[in-house]
Amino acid sequence: MEKPTKQKKPVTTKEQARKFVKMVAKKQGWHLNPDTQFIDDLTEGFATNRNRFGYYSCPCRDADGEKALDKDIICPCDYCKPDMEEFGHCYCGLYLTEEFAATRKAPGGIPERRPFEL
Ligand code: SF4
Repeated sequence: MEKPTKQKKPVTTKEQARKFVKMVAKKQGWHLNPDTQFIDDLTEGFATNRNRFGYYSCPCRDADGEKALDKDIICPCDYCKPDMEEFGHCYCGLYLTEEFAATRKAPGGIPERRPFEL
């Protein structure tokens, strides 16, 4: 009798992660950071997280690995809207408001809004 073969999980590629971030930006009406190397590094992080955890957790934060505990940092995270409103970009600096993008400034570091006890 033949052994049942284990189904391989589909691998998320960097290109798929790139499509994902473009889709999020388009849907929300945000701009993407124009630094292509930066986008490349972040999409690599997104692909790694998706393959490791099964979801696109924020590449700039440590994920727990349990979806219920990480749901606030699945991109677009719960903190991005207030960060966009206050600083013009998200915590990672991946997504920018139209106004911020027009300044051509590079996003700087902003305070972490996620409560530490999570
Ligand atoms: S900080 Fe930006 S890149 Fe990170 S999860 Fe939030 S919206 Fe996505």
